Amino acid sequence: MATTKHVSSPKPFLTFLNLLIVAATATTASNKPVVLMISCDGFRFGYQFKTDTPNIDLLISEGTEAKLGLIPVFPTMTFPNHYSIATGLYPAYHGIIMNKFTDPITGEVFNKGLDPKWWLGEPLWVTAANQGRKALTYFWPGSEVPKGSWTCPKGLCPHFNLSVPFEERVDTILSYLDLPKDEIPDLMMLYFDEPDGAGHNYGPDDPRVTNAVARVDNMIGRAIQGLKKREIFDEVHVILLGDHGMVTNCDKKTIYIDDLADWIKIPADWINAYSPVLAINPRWGKYVENPAEKNAELVAKMNEALSSGKVENGEFLQVYLKEKLPKRLHYSDSSRIPPIVGMVGEGLLVRQNRTNAHECYGDHGYDNKYFSMRSIFIGHGPRFRRGKKVPSFENVQIYNVVAEILGLLPASNNGSALFTNNILSQFGKTGEVK
Ligand SMILES: [Zn+2]
Repeated sequence: MATTKHVSSPKPFLTFLNLLIVAATATTASNKPVVLMISCDGFRFGYQFKTDTPNIDLLISEGTEAKLGLIPVFPTMTFPNHYSIATGLYPAYHGIIMNKFTDPITGEVFNKGLDPKWWLGEPLWVTAANQGRKALTYFWPGSEVPKGSWTCPKGLCPHFNLSVPFEERVDTILSYLDLPKDEIPDLMMLYFDEPDGAGHNYGPDDPRVTNAVARVDNMIGRAIQGLKKREIFDEVHVILLGDHGMVTNCDKKTIYIDDLADWIKIPADWINAYSPVLAINPRWGKYVENPAEKNAELVAKMNEALSSGKVENGEFLQVYLKEKLPKRLHYSDSSRIPPIVGMVGEGLLVRQNRTNAHECYGDHGYDNKYFSMRSIFIGHGPRFRRGKKVPSFENVQIYNVVAEILGLLPASNNGSALFTNNILSQFGKTGEVK
């Protein structure tokens, strides 16, 4: 559908009328709104300036962009963020509080497993399925977990396998658009594991990351060409985003827990994770009457040591009882979050001691206030205005945006119902004119 010839009319009234026509016919291919969400893992905001990215640029110029990037949730890790995008919930509420964690109460370990008990909230594919709509996921973290009416049907939700070429992922998604109209999925969610891999291995400033960015842009181009070939590029809502950014970290910027020994000795088996989030679950033993008091003492002693000027890089780590963490992190209201959390400075590492040293590489997971942790957000399609820039926002807002486009009743979530007005045009609830 050639929308440009409609909106380029020189007559204001006709322009408005034709805008209505564009919106009204925005569902021609399937008689319904369709959303294709594409996530590029670890696509740090700014990567799009590393090299020519003509396809991402096209989405930006013809769509709506978060001008200074998409703000991830804390911790800025892959699983918590993909599931926040899908549910509109902060990790404390959707349960995936880190990629890997130990439940402080039960001692059970979560390590990206698919047991539904870990995965709280209602992700978009479940919302869609529960309301009789068709959703398709391609490697989106959490989508293989059976939930509600969603059973991760074979063919609509392939088993996670990073060896599947990116081209095959794109082509499979596109093939669903060739189905009979009433079988075309309403919602498709596609995942690429780059440029995260290159960013981890080489750090964000390495030329191999630039290559990974070019490769991802190429895949976006493949998707755009597939949509254009089917004459539905202006009808499908394409949302391009990432889960978090990436920053360099090096051995010389490390804080060693054993360096705090003059103030407080912390056994390695109390530490569930070192960095970028320090997670401490003290095991005081049954003879300690007031573990909460002991935890507070431990935090005070650690911070005393770290601010003493005598611990190497100590000024880059601050330790909190979880309930005292800054409210903006929304990271306390879950029994899965360990009692003590250390906020590690941007690009710093934490280790127990000086063994197993290694060179520089890249990582993420740090405070979401750091610009380096931001990713991208671009929306293209009938409900996204062309060439519009919006201020940065947290990715928990996206659930409501997609629900609004698809005309789904959203489950309760941490996003704002009003946010959709900031980012979507107002042509009816489901893309058609009312
Ligand atoms: Zn990663």
